[in-house]
Amino acid sequence: MGANTVVIFDFDQTIIDDDSDRWVVAELGLTHLFNQLRQTLPWTSLMDRMMEELHSQGITTTHIADCLKRATLHPSIISAIKSAHALGCELRIISDANTFYIETILKHYGLWDCFSEVNTNPAVVDEKGRLRISPFYDSTLSPHCCNLCPHNMCKGLVIDRIRGSLPENKRRFIYVGDGIGDYCPTLKLKGDDFVMPRKDYPLWNRICSDPKLVNAKVHEWSSGEELKSILLNLINKPAIAQDVKVGDNGYTPI
Ligand SMILES: [Mg+2]
Ligand SMILES: [Zn+2]
Repeated sequence: MGANTVVIFDFDQTIIDDDSDRWVVAELGLTHLFNQLRQTLPWTSLMDRMMEELHSQGITTTHIADCLKRATLHPSIISAIKSAHALGCELRIISDANTFYIETILKHYGLWDCFSEVNTNPAVVDEKGRLRISPFYDSTLSPHCCNLCPHNMCKGLVIDRIRGSLPENKRRFIYVGDGIGDYCPTLKLKGDDFVMPRKDYPLWNRICSDPKLVNAKVHEWSSGEELKSILLNLINKPAIAQDVKVGDNGYTPI
């Protein structure tokens, strides 16, 4: 059933039950500096500055990786990702975190190979051993025009690119997210697609404020167990059932 399905996950507060940027800041003692600079720097630049601070204190990328491995990832979400992959779904991530954080955590939990693509801010370790984080889009070269999204990343544009790269009529999307940055890609979804917003989080609130704007079918979730059961149920749902009316060909939709 999953072979025609692309499942797209946000990362922070969706796959992990924390915000990875804020987790590292808090765990490695940077909260004071973070609060001082929060209003003066764009988010990605702020995170790059945090990495500079850690490097100046002698904190290595191994320390940062060890810290990331302590972030909480619910067992049901691990199992949901493995099951969706085993069912033949194509799994991708679109996240405003960075490649180092996401790769470290997914590899730690044995999930890295389940994903065919991770769209996020690039992070590289430079020759001095410092982690450098840069924007997904270099706004000086190619600013996007979306007023829903931060300058460094428009997740809706990524959805458009993914959809354009896939054979027509072959794919339906399930989008799982929580944040306000997940609203733009939600608006790109079509009637046969599904969006799974985390209940009482900003994406869910925004969808609820005007549900008519969203074409996709909405299935909220709160816990890891709910995410798993809803996601696997949607994957196993025959795509044709969405459009067939009672009586057509004697087929009753579920
Ligand atoms: Mg998120
Ligand atoms: Zn956007």
